[in-house]
Amino acid sequence: MSSTAGAVPIALQSRPADVPAGSAASDVLATPLGELRAVVDQAGWADVDRALKRARPSLADFAALLSPLAAEQVERLAVRSQQITKARFGSTVRLFAPLYLSNECVSTCTYCGFSASNLIARRTLSVQEVVEEAEELARRGFRHVLLVAGEHARIVSKGYLEQVVRAVAPLFSQVSVEVQVWDTATYRRLLEAGCDGVVVYQESYDQATYSEVHLKGKKRNYAWRLGAPDRAAEAGMRRLGIGTLLGLHPDWRSEALLMASHASALTRRWWRCEVQVALPRLRPAAGGYEPADPIDDRSLTQLLCALRIFLPDVGITMSTREPPQLRDHLAVLGVTSMSAGSHTEPGGYARESAAEPQFEISDTRSPAEVAAALRDLGVEPVWKDWQRA
Ligand code: SF4
Repeated sequence: MSSTAGAVPIALQSRPADVPAGSAASDVLATPLGELRAVVDQAGWADVDRALKRARPSLADFAALLSPLAAEQVERLAVRSQQITKARFGSTVRLFAPLYLSNECVSTCTYCGFSASNLIARRTLSVQEVVEEAEELARRGFRHVLLVAGEHARIVSKGYLEQVVRAVAPLFSQVSVEVQVWDTATYRRLLEAGCDGVVVYQESYDQATYSEVHLKGKKRNYAWRLGAPDRAAEAGMRRLGIGTLLGLHPDWRSEALLMASHASALTRRWWRCEVQVALPRLRPAAGGYEPADPIDDRSLTQLLCALRIFLPDVGITMSTREPPQLRDHLAVLGVTSMSAGSHTEPGGYARESAAEPQFEISDTRSPAEVAAALRDLGVEPVWKDWQRA
């Protein structure tokens, strides 16, 4: 199917209790996707011009900026995006590192190296091993860390996560988690242990695609996952990260519309929180998953710039999934945070690890090399921009 395929239907099939009225998740489900997708297809030059000039662009303006017509003017989008980014964030990019705790997982997700069905070397770090990894990251300069784990509620339990957060929090100014989604009470426990950010990628906002790629496990519950950022915010988390895994669904523009709708709703509903959006593209992983329709570099640039124009205050994250040249290019256009020197397997920073990585990274430069490249571009690498009081 081409990348301009029609709109995807979104219908709530899960328990309504998982998406309470008034939540950002409920706003996603109420997004008029068909109308917005028609704007993408039918936008003319005047629509793109208007969207570029508007002080407060609407979701329909964002749709115009995603149009194939706007793709022909991606340089204009890039100039506007760069101006807004400089005005709101200055010329800075925050650096962080993912710290993988475990690749144990009871879920089967077709695109992921940790999928329960893959026969891979599994490992869960002890709390002491996590501290050793964290100390190594701190030595390399990091003050922001993202703790990542597969979904295994017994091995990567609430208690284990709480212990790990408590153990590493003194080493960093900010600790976030990207683990299985929890209820509000558990997010509160993690907050009290020293974690103040939660990252939950919806992977695909299209329920049919979501069901096709999430074959087994708790992750099959679309609505419960969609409501996780609301629950984290309700618990008091300060940073909320969302994203869609580009390449899962054939129509990246529909995914982008719903993700932007979600980010916009989160900024309105949880205005005290800092909202971040990630634009991960699928990478090769164990299991041999092939992306349905990988998004090309130009389209990724268009999406990033359109997001920045629509949501001037939202952080945009770019991981080491992307190659160095593209990351450097996007760092001056709208990206505000980047991982660097990443390992996507448990262990690997303090010493070699034989555990299977979640996916192959593309930018293999060290954190110091990434920081130097940013400086060469006139961008200040920021290791710390927040201190828990
Ligand atoms: S995406 Fe998450 S839940 Fe799915 S297999 Fe990978 S680690 Fe497990």
